[in-house]
Amino acid sequence: MRKIIHADMDAFYASVEIRENPSLRGKPIVVGGSPESRGVVCAASYEARKYGVRSAIPCSMAKRLCPSAIFIYPNFSLYKEASIQIHEIFSEFTDLIEPLSLDEAYLDVTENKISEPFATEIAKAIKIRVKKETELTISCGVSYNKFLAKIASDWKKPDGLFVIRPEQAEEFLDELPIGKFHGIGKVTEKKMIHLGIKNGKDLKKMNLWELEKYFGKTGKFYYNIVRGIDNREVNSYRERKSLGIEDTFSIDSQDADFLEKELNKLASGLFLRMEKNEIRGRTLTVKLKYSDFTVKTISRTFSHWIENEDEISEISCELFYSGWEADKSIRLLGISIGNLEREEEAENQPMLFATD
Ligand SMILES: [Mg+2]
Repeated sequence: MRKIIHADMDAFYASVEIRENPSLRGKPIVVGGSPESRGVVCAASYEARKYGVRSAIPCSMAKRLCPSAIFIYPNFSLYKEASIQIHEIFSEFTDLIEPLSLDEAYLDVTENKISEPFATEIAKAIKIRVKKETELTISCGVSYNKFLAKIASDWKKPDGLFVIRPEQAEEFLDELPIGKFHGIGKVTEKKMIHLGIKNGKDLKKMNLWELEKYFGKTGKFYYNIVRGIDNREVNSYRERKSLGIEDTFSIDSQDADFLEKELNKLASGLFLRMEKNEIRGRTLTVKLKYSDFTVKTISRTFSHWIENEDEISEISCELFYSGWEADKSIRLLGISIGNLEREEEAENQPMLFATD
């Protein structure tokens, strides 16, 4: 049985900003572009979240939801600095670390560098060290696989520590609302609720055949996770070939204005992930899925690095219009960047958190 910790900083960018400027404490903070820009929210303090502000929503919407919010332009070098500190703390306990983003990672501590038999004790030690060295808080989830550890880290946020033991897993998952299952997004959640699946208990009633019928090959994943089964390893050398973002609409659309707006949003989101993961690339791909589920991708490769948001926006629109059969309505749009080079590789810096 493995021992996995999922460690995740609390409202990371916002917390770093508050640390740098303590007068912001207790106030609704939005890290992102100005409310007039077409950018998206990178991070929100817990006070701002009370108003419904979430990362990835447009900044203009954040302003409407929370007019008193203080908008701060992201300072990625500051976040990267904290990220390196956190990563160094992790690596004192294990080398089996799978970074998910600047502030989040899986750690396999089954065997660890301090010969500590209890993963919970390691999680406690990590929390203390992070607090002491960065003045920031981190939440840790402890369990025997990645899926459960990830859910556990979210359970007592902020500054949380939560353990899901093997014998508790199924009972815990039975009660868990279906939208809280990591890996079940908004669209799938809706579909499940439509099928009468509100929590883990309901999901468990579906047999493998039914789940595959409704959800394709992901059905097997759902079948397993609700039984507490997830055999994915903590993979410290995950190499990315591309980085992408996509969105399925609640209603299929043929409205060019709407689709263009969605592309802009995706471009912002992709740019944010590129920043977070220190990635740049030379190939941009737009993916569209029509309402009949046929998929079309249009790519272009450049001789220079694509590394700014406006450029991503413009190229995506061009590619989109060159590929879209305008008499067909669209259910999903996606943008991805490939032909990647990591900046830290180029600059020969120590490995940062790698992927999202
Ligand atoms: Mg976080």
